[in-house]
Parts: sequence; structure tokens; C-alpha cells
Amino acid sequence: MLFMEPFWILMDIVRDAADEEDEMRGDPAYVQCLYCRGFVEKAEVKRRGGCYLCGTPGEEIAKLARQRRGERENRRNNPYRTKCSNCGAVVVAKELREKGCYICGRKPTDVE
Ligand SMILES: [Zn+2]
Ligand SMILES: [Zn+2]
Repeated sequence: MLFMEPFWILMDIVRDAADEEDEMRGDPAYVQCLYCRGFVEKAEVKRRGGCYLCGTPGEEIAKLARQRRGERENRRNNPYRTKCSNCGAVVVAKELREKGCYICGRKPTDVE
């Protein structure tokens, strides 16, 4: 248990990945449950040891949170995706080299 991050902190980390339900996101007293996607009071989650909306225990939520975080990191480090230096669109690296950016048409080999 010593090196385990508390699950409500993990819930917090994953919060920024959520793209809906904006109202409560800015409130530090609330976290979003990864299972039911409901916003729950952090203190209450801590006290009850899990999500009190869907009844998912903290360990389960923490497991899912780590998994999600890993997926997100993988996506970020994905060598097949790159950013177009011209318009900033995320494009497939191979396609950018061969055909140019699908948004602005610029190839990385083009000269300014
Ligand atoms: Zn829940
Ligand atoms: Zn572009």
C-alpha cells in the first residue's frame, strides 16, 4: 500500500481527460467517477472508500485510472502521430511525409 497513489488523486488526474460536464470540473472539492462519470465530493469518496453514486470501490477506480493514464501517455508518445508545423493539426507522420498535411497541404520538406 505504501507506494500506491490514493485513488482520489488518480481520479483527479483523469479529470482533465473528460470532455463533457464542465460545470463541476473547476471545483477542487469534486472529482469525476470513471465508472458512472458522475461528479462526487472528494471528501465523501475518501470517507466511504469509493464512489457513492455507483458503489464502485476505490481500488477498482484506481485500477481504471492507471489504465486510462497509461493509454493517454501511449497516445502522446505515439511515434506514428506528429503535429503539422504549419497549422498544428495532429497527423499521421508517414502521411505527412508522403502526401503532406491533410488540413493545410504543407509537407515538412517544403521551404518557408
Ligand atoms: Zn461512480
Ligand atoms: Zn497543416
